[in-house]
Amino acid sequence: MQLLFHPFDLHLKHTFTIAHDSRDIQKTLVVELRDGDFRGFGEATANPYYGITVDNMMDALAGARVLVEKGRFSSAEELWDHVHPVLQSNSFAQCALDEAAHDLFAKQNGQKLYKSWGLSIDRNPLTNFTIGIDTVEKMVSKMKELPWPIYKIKLGTDDDLKIVRELRKNTDAIFRVDANCAWTAEQAIAFAPELKQLGVEFIEQPLAADDTAGMKKVFAESALPVIADESCILESDVKKCHGLFHGVNIKLTKCGGLTPAKRMIAEARSLGMKTMVGCMTETSVGISAIAHLLPLLDYVDMDGSLLIRNDPASGVTFDFGKVIYSAENGTGAVLK
Ligand SMILES: [Mg+2]
Repeated sequence: MQLLFHPFDLHLKHTFTIAHDSRDIQKTLVVELRDGDFRGFGEATANPYYGITVDNMMDALAGARVLVEKGRFSSAEELWDHVHPVLQSNSFAQCALDEAAHDLFAKQNGQKLYKSWGLSIDRNPLTNFTIGIDTVEKMVSKMKELPWPIYKIKLGTDDDLKIVRELRKNTDAIFRVDANCAWTAEQAIAFAPELKQLGVEFIEQPLAADDTAGMKKVFAESALPVIADESCILESDVKKCHGLFHGVNIKLTKCGGLTPAKRMIAEARSLGMKTMVGCMTETSVGISAIAHLLPLLDYVDMDGSLLIRNDPASGVTFDFGKVIYSAENGTGAVLK
């Protein structure tokens, strides 16, 4: 088995602004595992908030190269366990490698990835489309640019309720809001009733990731369900979110890939929590990997590839929120 790196600079269609970040270019690393004629692809994007660069991902993976290339594995899970001691300080690198392994093994088994997991796609949830923070006028025009059944609205401004009111005047779509840690418990509790009236189905990460006391209060008093994102990073966080959030938004890059994400989803479900997977502005490589978890999810946010001007890959496509799998086996992603 051979480990190869494909770094890319992704040009975003719009400057992407959330409560703690703003950018026009997204750097990403596509990892390839090659075994004979089979090629598996995985991806993780660079992320300043988590201190992740393309260079430190490649360095981390170079440290695991011998383990990967000389090892013999019968499953992606086995490979994950084998390299985890070396990659645990860089979950993004582990994620890219893990997605590539799942893609490769499913291709070698002649199956689409979800089939190789024994899942059926009959009841897949629709994906939302995210509207980043901008002037109210620009947020409305971004929304009108792409008619969609569910929008996730990034908040954390001084005009959060005004933004949602204005967007609501222009669509009947379902709304979700994501404050990215920007609110206080008092704000979250005060905003929730009007947001609910405006057709918002849940609030994602209203408070700072470590504000446990605040989240207890919001969980008890909020008119809307709350979903953890920045508070749910690693597998061990699922349990900690129980009793503070109604559900968890799992990011493959933060937890280390599909392998731990599947375990986190199973744990969240066993605790009676809603399950969601989110994305990090990945290309069709990372987004196609997420698609295979859909049968296990209540909600999904996998619009990353739609936000990019120069997607270097093909894979899943979208039809008004519905995810269409490519004809290829594995995740279905192929570098162009
Ligand atoms: Mg979020």
